[in-house]
Amino acid sequence: MSTDYDIIVVGGGGAGMTAALFAQAAGASVMLLEADTKLGGATRLSGGVVYAAGTSVQQAMGIADSPQAMYDYIMTLNGWQTRPDIIRLFAERSAASVEWLVSLGAEYEWVVKSGVDTVPRGHCTVGAGDTIGRLLINEVGAKGIETALGTRVDRLLIEDGRVVGVHASGMDLRAKAVIITTGGFGNSPGMRARYFPSAAQHGDIVYSVHNDAPFILGDGIKLGEAIGAQITGHDTGLVLPSAGLVPNSVEAFLPPWCMLVNDEGRRFMPENSPYAVSGYLINEQSGAHAWAIFDEKTLVEGSADKRFSDPYHTGEVSQTWDEDLIRKHVESGKIRTADTLEKLADMVGINRLALAETVARYNEDAQDGVDSEWAKQAPKYFPIDAAPYFAVEVRASVIGQTSAGLDIDTKGRVRDRNGIAIPGLYAAGEILGCVQGNRYSGGGMGVGNALTFGRLAGEEAAASLRVNA
Ligand SMILES: Cc1cc2nc3c(=O)[nH]c(=O)nc-3n(C[C@H](O)[C@H](O)[C@H](O)COP(=O)(O)OP(=O)(O)OC[C@H]3O[C@@H](n4cnc5c(N)ncnc54)[C@H](O)[C@@H]3O)c2cc1C
Repeated sequence: MSTDYDIIVVGGGGAGMTAALFAQAAGASVMLLEADTKLGGATRLSGGVVYAAGTSVQQAMGIADSPQAMYDYIMTLNGWQTRPDIIRLFAERSAASVEWLVSLGAEYEWVVKSGVDTVPRGHCTVGAGDTIGRLLINEVGAKGIETALGTRVDRLLIEDGRVVGVHASGMDLRAKAVIITTGGFGNSPGMRARYFPSAAQHGDIVYSVHNDAPFILGDGIKLGEAIGAQITGHDTGLVLPSAGLVPNSVEAFLPPWCMLVNDEGRRFMPENSPYAVSGYLINEQSGAHAWAIFDEKTLVEGSADKRFSDPYHTGEVSQTWDEDLIRKHVESGKIRTADTLEKLADMVGINRLALAETVARYNEDAQDGVDSEWAKQAPKYFPIDAAPYFAVEVRASVIGQTSAGLDIDTKGRVRDRNGIAIPGLYAAGEILGCVQGNRYSGGGMGVGNALTFGRLAGEEAAASLRVNA
């Protein structure tokens, strides 16, 4: 293995492979280093939804959209607490990421409203993240990009304030530019406690979707911190609601047939809210939890009704709360049950008077087939009036993405604590702390970020070689 390259890319997931491919296409010699024994990272495990606006896929489906609309939506949802320059770049370049995937062979049959916007922007890749991973791995192979697996970078090399390479596997590898694409830190309890405390507060039950990508440990943050990089986006990321009925599983959507209340006995959102908002709202309730309440009739009918288990209406069932599972957890004591709502409320610590009031209104609405309080749209509304009654504790304890990390400028260059670009250092993907803001705008933001900012970093790092030649 040669030790001198134009560009070293650290991390071979979606962002890293994309950066490597575009850097090489721009004429750079590239070395791609991957800690794991295979390429793909979280990208390959993902649902393969890509958030983008103004694509040919949308046009073919008659969906009118534009980068400006995507920009406006993300900025508004985040109350402008995210970087306008970065979001504009993301919105303007997002379509090119989808077009590129299509050119590599990706197919799209569905574009869904994956956030709380009115426009469908979540491009569902046929075959999910595995397809994206496979297409990128094939392309990396086809283009002959040099790759070293099982090579975990533990230090950046610095000379005269410039990043000149990396240290990995006991070796110094030199390069004119380094791109950090090490992904998030979902698998590191220490990093979660430090950078994502609102998720870490749930303690032992926290589960990260990154579980099967063993090196999603926040190495990129440590590499950057050690040389004075700014770490931004504290306590941001995606948290998904879970009742923990199936250990270490993802329940992106709560069953809409239940009623969700807080300890005060009040509903606080439509129960079928998109995961772009539901986890945050649950975390904001007293005790950072909520209770799913339903009765015997709803349990039997609701959990068997497949219309409730296909949130995107794509024909894909994503349900974990079936009747057998619930009965099993009633037996284990995890799910509480009582023959009156008052007893149930006292058992789990819900304000019983408020709960009675909330249920009365909910039941009245159910008769009328509406949700007059929270406007839940559901194919059927179930009253809560047939004992026994059930209470399931729900916490936002599943990490879907971590979003604290490195800060970049609009050329993909990592910024130091003074906001100044560190010469020779670039970053892209889930390692970035400056993309998400305080709300996950919708399914597809993670892969969209990886592809769009991966390309930016690869192209800009390669362009910098020409300037510095
Ligand atoms: C189950 C699951 C479902 C998801 N579904 C979606 C979805 O549908 N849509 C969406 O937008 N997002 C989704 N996400 C999030 C999304 O997949 C990620 O945000 C995105 O793919 C991250 O891409 P990345 O290239 O930045 O990181 P990754 O793809 O995770 O790649 C990072 C790579 O860096 C390597 N690495 C780490 N440290 C080092 C080191 N020190 N040296 C060398 N290599 C290192 C890792 O091993 C890994 O291969 C999902 C995530 C998961 C896990």
